[in-house]
Amino acid sequence: MSTLKSEIAIIGAGPGGITTSIFLSRAGIPHIIFDKADFPRDKVCGDALSGKVVSVLNKIDPAIAQNMHDDSAHFTNCWGVQFIAPNGKALDIPFRMDKKKEAHAPGFIGKRHYFDHFLFGMIDRDYATVKTGCAVKDVTVTAEGVEISYEEHGLQKTARCAVVVGAGGDRCLVARKLAGFKKDARYYAAGLRAYYRNIGDMHPENFIELHYLKEVLPGYLWIFPLPNNEANVGVGLLSSRVKGKEINLRSLMLNTLHEHPTLRERFKNAELLGDIKGWGLPLGSVKRSLAGERFLLVGDAGSLIDPFTGEGIGNAMVSGRLAALALAGLVKEKNYGAEATRRYEEQVYEKLWNELKLSHTLQRLVDYPWLYNWVVNKARKNDTVRETFTFMFDDLNMRAKLKSPAFYFKLLFG
Ligand SMILES: Cc1cc2nc3c(=O)[nH]c(=O)nc-3n(C[C@H](O)[C@H](O)[C@H](O)COP(=O)(O)OP(=O)(O)OC[C@H]3O[C@@H](n4cnc5c(N)ncnc54)[C@H](O)[C@@H]3O)c2cc1C
Repeated sequence: MSTLKSEIAIIGAGPGGITTSIFLSRAGIPHIIFDKADFPRDKVCGDALSGKVVSVLNKIDPAIAQNMHDDSAHFTNCWGVQFIAPNGKALDIPFRMDKKKEAHAPGFIGKRHYFDHFLFGMIDRDYATVKTGCAVKDVTVTAEGVEISYEEHGLQKTARCAVVVGAGGDRCLVARKLAGFKKDARYYAAGLRAYYRNIGDMHPENFIELHYLKEVLPGYLWIFPLPNNEANVGVGLLSSRVKGKEINLRSLMLNTLHEHPTLRERFKNAELLGDIKGWGLPLGSVKRSLAGERFLLVGDAGSLIDPFTGEGIGNAMVSGRLAALALAGLVKEKNYGAEATRRYEEQVYEKLWNELKLSHTLQRLVDYPWLYNWVVNKARKNDTVRETFTFMFDDLNMRAKLKSPAFYFKLLFG
């Protein structure tokens, strides 16, 4: 039986793996990309595609975001977020002060079943050997390279490469086997996702809704508007909380939708579409080894989900692009040793760490319901504070003010 060979293999064709593939192809570097699924395939997610996703898409081709903006059958244009404080008060924060100045929406909401397939279609098969329906069962690093065992149509096969990119998402085999990752409930969240049709009283401008209910802090329940009068509804909660309080996330979500004073009304004619599904969120609250002897990790495989917002698609794509740029250098040097690959890890954290660290702090701040209620009450009455929040979406230094006592002092005295 012949062995598949390539300098680089990517394991996983989610947003992280596909972005790595796209930018490797741009650099003219052949590679293999494996996925155990056949596309299109589902991925449990809130389906919110943030400004960071759009910024990587713009680097691939600026026409993509415009096409998404115009494709109202598959994507909702997202112009803002509604925060609902534990006391039930809502605060609307637009992503932009003046919509008219923008060519397209800053973010989108689109089902991953469609979005991932849309990305999958951008893989350049002149450079990428695409192996879908192929589950990788083992990876072993030797002095000569990386040996990959995979299953295709029930047959055991092998592939050899010089360096492997772990892009298998949460519980990625490469992360567990080569980087020794283990789940840490303090930095890991459990999430549930359901699709509903016909929810009442949706936001008139399609803002995404984040409901910070006391029971799920520092997590939240979300309602994200989708095309065709559908919405992605879900809940995310730190795993350490689920364990500690013996919480059944599914009952918690359904009971909330049926009993909460305002949600109950909104869901009374809503229809649940399909099953409620769960999946894990490996949070980027602490730094980890994202690279080593002959391997690199991108996206959820490297635990890069924002601990405050739960967004991970953008960071998967940012890290995928950085992995491809780093690999272009490594291929030239023919050096895949731990010291050489670690430069990739440094680049990822140089780009993302300040934001991840700040989000970890904010995650702890929202654990104080009284503080959250107080900030929302103040901001509801003050245009300048709401404008400040708008600027915080794009400006990390502005967002950092949220952890400074001076910010709350100024808020207190208007
Ligand atoms: C409930 C929930 C809600 C979320 N909401 C949002 C949101 O609204 N916005 C946002 O930005 N992020 C959200 N996230 C996070 C987001 O889903 C992930 O961060 C993102 O999917 C990471 O992309 P990835 O490419 O790293 O991994 P994935 O998207 O998980 O892709 C991994 C791929 O690897 C393949 N694979 C795995 N193992 C193997 C193997 N052994 N062999 C071959 N193939 C393999 C899988 O089939 C899959 O296609 C949410 C997550 C959850 C769980």
